[in-house]
Amino acid sequence: MTRVYNFSAGPAILPEEVMEQARDEMLDWQGTGMSVMEMSHRGKQFMSIAKQAEADFRELLAIPDNYQVLFLQGGATSQFAMVPINLLQGNQKADYVCTGHWSKKAIAEGRRFCEINLAASSEENGFQHIPPHQEWHLDPGAAYVHYTPNETIAGVEFHWIPDTGEVPLVADMSSTLLSRPVDVSRFGVIYAGAQKNIGCAGLTVVIVRDDLIGQPLKSAPTMFDYQIHRDHNSMYNTPPTYAWYIAGLVFGWLKRKGGLTAIAEVNRAKADTLYRFIDNSDFYYNPVERASRSRMNIPFILSEQGLDGVFLQQAEKAGLTNLKGHRSVGGMRASIYNAMPQEGVEALVEFMKEFERTRT
Ligand code: PLP
Repeated sequence: MTRVYNFSAGPAILPEEVMEQARDEMLDWQGTGMSVMEMSHRGKQFMSIAKQAEADFRELLAIPDNYQVLFLQGGATSQFAMVPINLLQGNQKADYVCTGHWSKKAIAEGRRFCEINLAASSEENGFQHIPPHQEWHLDPGAAYVHYTPNETIAGVEFHWIPDTGEVPLVADMSSTLLSRPVDVSRFGVIYAGAQKNIGCAGLTVVIVRDDLIGQPLKSAPTMFDYQIHRDHNSMYNTPPTYAWYIAGLVFGWLKRKGGLTAIAEVNRAKADTLYRFIDNSDFYYNPVERASRSRMNIPFILSEQGLDGVFLQQAEKAGLTNLKGHRSVGGMRASIYNAMPQEGVEALVEFMKEFERTRT
């Protein structure tokens, strides 16, 4: 068996230890003679898996007691609607900050429910920086402020948490959650699709403050009401049991690694390795303002046109896969989530050096 270094933006690389544990337990989970996939979600075995996963997740992020953790389906994309449905609470407007592709999607969906105040945007400069807080125009009457702490496609990341006073702050943390410690008490809602740092596709994790639950729009579909999911411990209907179990294994792995402070250091070192190499090269280029660079998704451009195809082909041969940039921006992108080891980044840098040297 040959495993590759997978730089996909998501679904993404998972820790090998997690995959091995899942493989070992695949046919017989802890002497039950059943796979987790085959268990009733209401049975005591799955209930114990679910409970442990939530406890570990809460511990990793030090989630305060006045926040609920929901294990849902529908992806981060469903949260683009679920947030206004639950948080407008009679208000007609919300603030959004636009820093890239995913913010734009959230804004477009938000517009279906309320008036949107675009508090700040970096679209004019091609989403290559995070607009500084002093340039934001927040509406004190907004129901909430929504932003995207890490834009997976352009590779821009907030390295600070915006201060929105009493107005609840909502964050789409799909591509940054669990990559570093975060002060959950600063947020009203945090949500993330699981397919990057949490586990496999099919699960969406939502952290929501108690006071934001219970007043959804009257027309809200049952499955879009946070209260329904809270009251049924995320088991109102059949939850994505296997993805929930895998997430639990990932949380256990992260705890053994030393938690989020430890993984943040590893992530910083990996990102530094790649950015340092790119910045010292005349051949590769990263267009993002330095203070706004993502530690998870690193786009880069080859300075000579027409070489992208060969680069990708040769990278693939070298066991470095999924380096093609998003179709909307082109170029390359290396996503280096928690499960990507430092050696994977070093292998990429070595390959890039060699490609640059031999291209002529
Ligand atoms: N938000 C961000 C920041 C993302 O990176 C993605 C997917 O890559 C999404 C939202 C959409 O997530 P999903 O496919 O889980 O709906």
